Amino acid sequence: MDPDVVKMVHGAGGVEMQKFIKNYILKYLSGSGAEVPLEFLDDSSVYNGVVLKSDTYTVKPIFFPGSDIGRLAVAGSVNDMLMIGAEPKALAMGLVIEEGFPFNDLERILESVSKTASEAGVYVITGDTKVVEKGALDKIIINMSGIGFRHRYLDHNIGVVAKYRGGVDFRWLLDRNIRPGDKIILTGYIGDHAIALLSVREGVGFKIDIESDASPLNEIVDKALEVGGVVAMKDPTRGGLANLLNEWSDKSGYGIKIYEDKIPIRDEVRAACGYLGLDPLELGNEGKAVIAVVREKAEEVLDAIRGTELGRHAEIIGEVTDEYKFVVMETVIGGRRIVPQPIGDPVPRIC
Ligand code: MG
Repeated sequence: MDPDVVKMVHGAGGVEMQKFIKNYILKYLSGSGAEVPLEFLDDSSVYNGVVLKSDTYTVKPIFFPGSDIGRLAVAGSVNDMLMIGAEPKALAMGLVIEEGFPFNDLERILESVSKTASEAGVYVITGDTKVVEKGALDKIIINMSGIGFRHRYLDHNIGVVAKYRGGVDFRWLLDRNIRPGDKIILTGYIGDHAIALLSVREGVGFKIDIESDASPLNEIVDKALEVGGVVAMKDPTRGGLANLLNEWSDKSGYGIKIYEDKIPIRDEVRAACGYLGLDPLELGNEGKAVIAVVREKAEEVLDAIRGTELGRHAEIIGEVTDEYKFVVMETVIGGRRIVPQPIGDPVPRIC
């Protein structure tokens, strides 16, 4: 087999994908000088005050418990704009459809796009459709790109950070912003999306009562920024919480300590992970955020998040530290273990 070809792991959101992006994408496409450029590898970029995001969805199967590719596409792209401190405003949708795709399924997807967009306060205002021969791809692929603008509470939020840090050197909520002492909030249960998908995947299927969490996170972000003190936000999608925390640690140069007993995981998800040999920390989510907050405001931000529909199970799961430069979990039995960056998401084609 020719080793010099793209493999599934290059798109799987872990160490191999990071290397792929650096060695190929950034090699040719960096150097824009944008306010938040491609090479920051944050959730979105910023050019002349406009927040820009593009994401493509190749999920398998396209309908799954609690969600579908349409809802996922809107939620995923909107969330990446929210995470940097933007209010998403408009979307562009590119459809690539295989010949023979049923109009019934297409309408289900479009209805889901429309419903989720109105939930997130955005419209699809431009797009494109291509049809390819049967067998050229797996049913349907959606690209969802979007623009947004500075969140109405972002300046207030950063003002609160500045008060406790004695000044700040950032204008957006970037991965590199975290500092020792910051508390880390996780907005709810992890692993639901990947396990819900797996439960209906051909050849894997098993009976479980878990639905995907795919949802736009507007309300959680609004409430957190309204309180203020948030320094970084990121959604634990491909590669899960383990990948997210390692990215924060790498980009900031600080360590992160998390507490196993504080991480919200449903019993059913834990059981499914045991049965399938998966680590819930490495599973992708589509309706959760990880939020770093200055210590002094962490409890207040947590309360505000818990007051939202999607944030009821939020917890402070850890903190940033300068004791070491990697991610460490204090386990329920009192041990410590390093949480490595996953090689790739153990479950492919989840988004
Ligand atoms: Mg993201």
